Amino acid sequence: METETIQIALKPEKNSCSHKFKKLGISEHVLKAIEEEKFETPSEIQEKSIPHVLEGKDVIARASTGSGKTLAFGSVIFQDVKKDFGIQALILTPTRELAEQNYKALNKFSKHKPLNIIPVYGGVSLNPQIEDMESAEVVVGTPGRILDHLARHTIDLFHLKILVLDEADRMLDMGFRDDVEKIIHQCPKKRQTLLFSATMSEDIVRLAQKYMNNPVEVSAEQYVDPAKLTQIYFDVEDNLKFSLLNHLLTKEDAKLVMVFCNTRRNVDFVANNLKANNLDVLPIHGGFSQDKRNKIMDRFHSQTAKILVCTDVAARGLDIKGVSHVYNYDIPADPKEYVHRIGRTARAGEEGKVINIVTSRDYENFSNIVDKGEIQIKNEQTPLIERARLGWMPERRGGRFSRGAGNSRFGRDRGSRGGFGGRGRSSSSHYSSSGRPSRTGSFNNPRSRDRDTGGSRGESREKSWGGNRNRDRSRNRSHGHSGGRSFGRNRRY
Ligand code: AMP
Repeated sequence: METETIQIALKPEKNSCSHKFKKLGISEHVLKAIEEEKFETPSEIQEKSIPHVLEGKDVIARASTGSGKTLAFGSVIFQDVKKDFGIQALILTPTRELAEQNYKALNKFSKHKPLNIIPVYGGVSLNPQIEDMESAEVVVGTPGRILDHLARHTIDLFHLKILVLDEADRMLDMGFRDDVEKIIHQCPKKRQTLLFSATMSEDIVRLAQKYMNNPVEVSAEQYVDPAKLTQIYFDVEDNLKFSLLNHLLTKEDAKLVMVFCNTRRNVDFVANNLKANNLDVLPIHGGFSQDKRNKIMDRFHSQTAKILVCTDVAARGLDIKGVSHVYNYDIPADPKEYVHRIGRTARAGEEGKVINIVTSRDYENFSNIVDKGEIQIKNEQTPLIERARLGWMPERRGGRFSRGAGNSRFGRDRGSRGGFGGRGRSSSSHYSSSGRPSRTGSFNNPRSRDRDTGGSRGESREKSWGGNRNRDRSRNRSHGHSGGRSFGRNRRY
């Protein structure tokens, strides 16, 4: 059985003070850092897990992004890891961004007793990592690159005491199971294993049974405050999809905004055309170099640009404060992904709004989300909108697409086609000549070659998508006219 957690906020308690962290057993030097961070009270997952973690027990913690889990596993790392005794803690994360984020957070918490913490992920040169490995005590890395180092004998796990599997569900979803298991086999048997996961599936339970020693299970209370999170959807014609997004981004009063697309190509399409409509946006997906991805995330964190157009992979697990709006330009094929997306907003007591732009090609995915009946998404009337101009179109190059194609670069909104040409194009077009998505369309299809798997060329392990390979429920279907479809049992969600 699978359960899902939407733990969106670090629920603050009234009259809290820092001695609450002390009561959990956290070391003095970490308490000092916590005080400087101005944390007042432990988050729920910290409160529930840290005492067990500090006792050296294996712990399975159901906790999602933003729950405060880094301090939860960091507490024992800061307590038990000694300087100059080799690599004693390894944290495996599904994405490079999450590795980088954990690395920064751990450095912050350990600043009064610094440890050598290093991030190790693909897409950047191996040699500096090999050099850093010599003096590292804590490694935060993605499975593919850690395996590379193991194969080259440039990482030594002989002294490892603590293994953390962060966002374990995501690691399995991304097809890292074999890599994770290979890495675990290279760790000493006598170790503490901590597993953090937003969702608990049978796969996670199997992994835990196989590799954990009598684990204690803790879970942060499911916490959704309906008063803080508004979810709406617009049901529009395909050819208005982009224009509606453009209209809403211009009209809605927002702090930080995340626009989710299912493919890299749609991220490029949406971001470039929003720019053509004078919006300052940042695109991010797994096709960019790691250096570029890091720079974009730094810009978004510092709020120099306020709209991030992203794939799930690039944005997953990141803690970004102040996201007031989440747009689903494409509806995700996996309802779990929807839960992860909406968890990016309405955090820490803030208001949040989720806006789904649904067209006929999204019907199947959207039905999968609302048919569960657990999520309330209200249908909104589509406002009167002007067609946005399209200044950027991908063009075919050697059978694929490159900049500058299209019979008309401006004017008609072809946003929903992600730039796949217009009516009556060749048979490789993903849309039928009627302008409706064909049954072989693959915009939302996880098997699509354009699906973002996070890695870059030559880094096959980070590119695999094993967990989703058997899932093909996102095949697009034409459902007749759009704009009039009701979703779910009660028709209002
Ligand atoms: P994490 O889930 O570890 O990525 O943490 C999410 C965010 O919450 C980070 O910005 C942390 O610095 C912050 N945070 C962690 N623990 C607490 C706490 N007890 N009180 C307030 N903020 C916290």
